[in-house]
Amino acid sequence: MAFEGLAERLQDTIKKITGKGKVSEQDVKEMTREVRLALLEADVNFKVVKDLIKRIKERAIGQEVMDSLTPGQQVIKVVKDELTDLMGGEHSKIAVAPKPPTVIMMVGLQGAGKTTTSGKLANLLRKKYNRSPLLVACDVYRPAAVDQLETLGKQLNMPVFSQGTDANPVDIAKQAIEEAKENHYDYVIVDTAGRLHVDENLMDELTQMKETVNPDEIFLVVDAMTGQDAVNVAKSFDEQLDISGVVLTKLDGDTRGGAALSIRAVTGKPIKFAGMGEKLDQLEPFHPDRMASRILG
Ligand code: GDP
Repeated sequence: MAFEGLAERLQDTIKKITGKGKVSEQDVKEMTREVRLALLEADVNFKVVKDLIKRIKERAIGQEVMDSLTPGQQVIKVVKDELTDLMGGEHSKIAVAPKPPTVIMMVGLQGAGKTTTSGKLANLLRKKYNRSPLLVACDVYRPAAVDQLETLGKQLNMPVFSQGTDANPVDIAKQAIEEAKENHYDYVIVDTAGRLHVDENLMDELTQMKETVNPDEIFLVVDAMTGQDAVNVAKSFDEQLDISGVVLTKLDGDTRGGAALSIRAVTGKPIKFAGMGEKLDQLEPFHPDRMASRILG
């Protein structure tokens, strides 16, 4: 479960301070020391932890008294608010183009869950938002990826635009958008190529695609379980492509939460969705406040 390890690690610290009728500066210091250690153990970026702890201390020491909460509860509320802000504060909504279709480019490294997430996102858009998406198979270098997307399309009863593996991905995307206009699809979800590492060829192709299709969203799909590696991948993709948001996959298996807690602060880009399992309905809009509650109980 997401954040389970971190939540367990902090359980005693939270209990200890919540029970206090009076909180001294020393209590806050002890609590923040524990929170700091727990976050570092959870693989949260060092600088992110440092800034966060500083803000928590500033707010928790000498804060205004609220009648509804005990002093201990107030301190925990400060921690929760700060964790929520760290993950982006408000839930960040998906874009809607003024004139359909809204074009979403899905980018990321191989194995991150890009193709699965494209299917999941199409499913979510149809089910939750009542939209009609068109999936587009542009990952032509991994032949299995085109088949995989077509299979996902069949499972979901969702249209997939593909031209096999010989066509140029940028041309495929352009034609798919024309097809979407003609047939009144309102979202186009482009599954682009991924590679094992961030490399120049990949970035060149993605940049070219971005310039040609002018997407409304570029979602970077990263595997939460890779911790700080995911953060570094996000940094590189963002520097090259100016991504609009992150989809964090495999959060179901990530008990630590280092990527979830660092990505927004490091890249400035919001986590928009989280993958919570392999099934096609296991993609959820990412709500920072709910995630903070998972950590603090
Ligand atoms: P791609 O190479 O980036 O297109 O990756 P795939 O979409 O093929 O996914 C790689 C693997 O990750 C597959 O086995 C997926 O089922 C799995 N996967 C994707 N998202 C999630 C998720 O949110 N949770 C879990 N547990 N597995 C996931």
